[in-house]
Amino acid sequence: MASKIDLSGVGMTSQRTRNRLTDRLRSGGISNEALLDVIASTPRHLFVDEALAHRAYEDTALPIGYSQTISQPYIVARMTQAILALGQPKSILEIGTGSGYQSVILAQLMDDVYTVERISGLLEKAVSRFRLLGLNQIRYKYDDGQLGWPEKQPFDAIMVTASPREVPHELIAQLNPGGCMVVPVGTPGNQELTLIQRNEEGFSTEILEKVRFVPLLGGKN
Ligand code: SAH
Repeated sequence: MASKIDLSGVGMTSQRTRNRLTDRLRSGGISNEALLDVIASTPRHLFVDEALAHRAYEDTALPIGYSQTISQPYIVARMTQAILALGQPKSILEIGTGSGYQSVILAQLMDDVYTVERISGLLEKAVSRFRLLGLNQIRYKYDDGQLGWPEKQPFDAIMVTASPREVPHELIAQLNPGGCMVVPVGTPGNQELTLIQRNEEGFSTEILEKVRFVPLLGGKN
């Protein structure tokens, strides 16, 4: 018989440890209480290998295999907060499912979450986590996310969790008017988290902060 899966966590993965993480995020400028509640109640240790579970509530990126990482909690929170600050989106497209952690945070805050990943081994694991947590409404696709998701557009928001060298115009075209995108733009070692808002004339951009993401790559793997 399969052993019971520990969703709540003990010791280094306990609720107390998670609350320490949200305290830290608060002091780093994350103030959206709904978002902090979701981070406090989401078992991040289920999104990394068991050997790393004891580090899951540190405010740090961790390896998830295939040379990829689960983003640092502060960055997950910063990107989500930037989108929510512009209004409550109904739909969001995430590029780069990775571990599935960011998708799970979004699915607890927005109605329609779409996520695209180019590495099938990562997507499969992420989908099993969505099922485990009962978040079956998350829609996912194995594809090159640089193309967005043309059949499901337009979206109220887009979040890109890997770094393109330039602002991805083909994704801006899949935003609703007034919609926004948060994306780490630049070269390795020099990336800026950029908030883009689509408006009638075109779009406006605001630089939020320097960040470090894995590169957005082309094709499927
Ligand atoms: N949001 C993820 C972060 C994963 S790291 C999480 O919460 O864990 C970035 C992810 O983007 C990697 O899994 C990588 O494979 C993926 N990626 C990179 N280029 C991509 C592309 N063109 N299309 C889809 N996914 C891409």
